[in-house]
Amino acid sequence: MRILVIEDEVKLAQAIKRALELQKYAVDIVHDGAEGLDLAVGEKPDLILLDIMLPGMDGIAVCRELRAQNVLTPILMLTARGQITDKVTGLDVGADDYMVKPFSFEELFARIRALIRRPATSTDPVLKISDLVLDPKSLSVQRANKEIQLSAKEFALLHYLMRNQNTVLTKEHLVQHVWDYDADILPSTVEVHIKHLRDKIDTPYATPLIHTVRGFGYKMTVK
Ligand code: CA
Repeated sequence: MRILVIEDEVKLAQAIKRALELQKYAVDIVHDGAEGLDLAVGEKPDLILLDIMLPGMDGIAVCRELRAQNVLTPILMLTARGQITDKVTGLDVGADDYMVKPFSFEELFARIRALIRRPATSTDPVLKISDLVLDPKSLSVQRANKEIQLSAKEFALLHYLMRNQNTVLTKEHLVQHVWDYDADILPSTVEVHIKHLRDKIDTPYATPLIHTVRGFGYKMTVK
């Protein structure tokens, strides 16, 4: 899961990035609206945290422009305490939710989880494929009722694969959605992480769930 944070308060943006990374999200930060708009359109993050008061193009204008371009990524707007007019305007121009600063990270995580699963086909936040179960809330993974320990990146990769099961995903697509925009990730890095993941969730079991689609990428499915 990849989150774009558009926030001109550098310290706050960095604190949000660190907190979200601990929750296994990949996070990009930008400090002005126009750059944020470019990244939101070009990189297709899974969620956008959008401050309203930004230099140059403000958050309301960014949100309106994204929706005008038919970018439907969930948008959680951030603003200073008590700016009710901003709230109304933000929701009017297509934001999905709204938080008043200062907010707790626990509340931020809860709102993000709610927004990210909103467009999913299932309302159940726990993902399952065959006897493999991933719980995004407790960050736990089990196969055949046995707990499996994954690194943060393995967890993020598996979460993304499971959210897109039965879909062929290219390595480039996985780099875009599971790693940071800034990270200089090669497709071979994806191969290494897929191997580690397979060693843990597939190799010890009779039915492999991660399949290589030659010349394209990977698909998570029960064959
Ligand atoms: Ca601001």
